[in-house]
Amino acid sequence: MTANTNTPIKRIALFGSTGSIGTQALDVIAANTDKFSAEILTAQTNHELLIKQALQFNPNCVVIGDETKYKLVKDALANTTVKVFAGEAALIEVAALNCYDMMLAGIVGYAGLKPTLTAIENGKPIALANKETLVVAGEIIMQKAFEKRVPILPVDSEHSAIFQCLVGEGRSRVEKIILTASGGPFFGKKPNFLVNVKRDHALQHPNWSMGAKITIDSATLMNKGLEMIEAKWLFNLKPEQIQVIVHPQSIIHSMVQFNDGSIKAQMGLPDMKLPIQYALAFPQRIDNDFPRYDFRKPNTLTFEEPDLRTFRNLALAMDALNKGGNMPCVLNAANEIAVYAFLKNRIGFLDITEVVERSINKISFIEKPTLEELFESDAEARSFAASLMQL
Ligand code: NAD
Ligand code: MG
Repeated sequence: MTANTNTPIKRIALFGSTGSIGTQALDVIAANTDKFSAEILTAQTNHELLIKQALQFNPNCVVIGDETKYKLVKDALANTTVKVFAGEAALIEVAALNCYDMMLAGIVGYAGLKPTLTAIENGKPIALANKETLVVAGEIIMQKAFEKRVPILPVDSEHSAIFQCLVGEGRSRVEKIILTASGGPFFGKKPNFLVNVKRDHALQHPNWSMGAKITIDSATLMNKGLEMIEAKWLFNLKPEQIQVIVHPQSIIHSMVQFNDGSIKAQMGLPDMKLPIQYALAFPQRIDNDFPRYDFRKPNTLTFEEPDLRTFRNLALAMDALNKGGNMPCVLNAANEIAVYAFLKNRIGFLDITEVVERSINKISFIEKPTLEELFESDAEARSFAASLMQL
């Protein structure tokens, strides 16, 4: 393979570089140093990995979210040219810099929203893993991206699949999209089983190795609900054009059905490095030696309706999708609080749904919220959800 010397190196800002998405994105960058460099790395608490990454990739700057770890990072990088920042505000400051060409939005949760918005305002293309950004403020984000002519390239595997199916197609020809869901570790289980589920069991996803929050969201099917909302904004769809189907093998990553009934699917072995490198390199495709799916091996691909009565989080997310306004933001905030409480063994698995449902019913509906109003809805929902659990 020879390097294409005509294409300049794309400088990537990795927000959430120590996470599952961030570390896999760095693997992609390390394997393609003729195409990409890492210019910004950010981490919330894992200073040791951040330091290691900084020593390997020599970025322009790093941010450690936890300010108590600033000195540790600063001292460890004293003999390098890497600038070191700390704290939440620094994430926004570095997103406004011009030392990078594309942001990989790999922070988990609501915390990813403000830096991503700043990058869009700064005219930087986004490779978007942080689905919560679109769940909370999809309309505002997409409008801002449109105004700034900033492409938002999905990293979420389902959305990458849909994006790939849509290349070369007129968007008005889309009848519906079909989001595939693995079903998670509790596929086929009923509430009498789920009531006793513990953290460690819920963290064992059958097909994907991911961060803790999204792994729990996958087990409750909230992840698929968040992805429906994400898809609505990314592809400008009506709620009734978004269908979910359980496909436990995770080989078809999602599908698009066109107005002539034709269906395109994007397939492959489940490996997040593929959608990550597709988003980073778009419109190019990069060679790699990742394992290939082999149709000749014994295999069966199956499909089933999701069980909305058992996995009520998905039904709640569908309600929020239909209702719109600040409801997806409230859903997301309550879910984040409940998932972290579950991860700390403070509430049971089914309580997550209870907390989300009660929060949605409690917080006042705003049909067309401003960004400020979304911040307020988020804060209100978090404090109400926490009060339910006496956190
Ligand atoms: P993770 O928990 O493994 O990593 C999260 C990263 O965000 C870490 O680098 C952490 O330091 C940083 N972070 C956490 N809280 C922060 C805060 N308050 N402020 C600033 N930074 C913070 O998560 P992940 O699995 O890599 O997921 C990241 C995002 O990508 C999520 O939105 C998730 O839904 C999405 N996503 C992940 C996968 C996957 O395979 N992991 C697939 C699709 C989408
Ligand atoms: Mg996904």
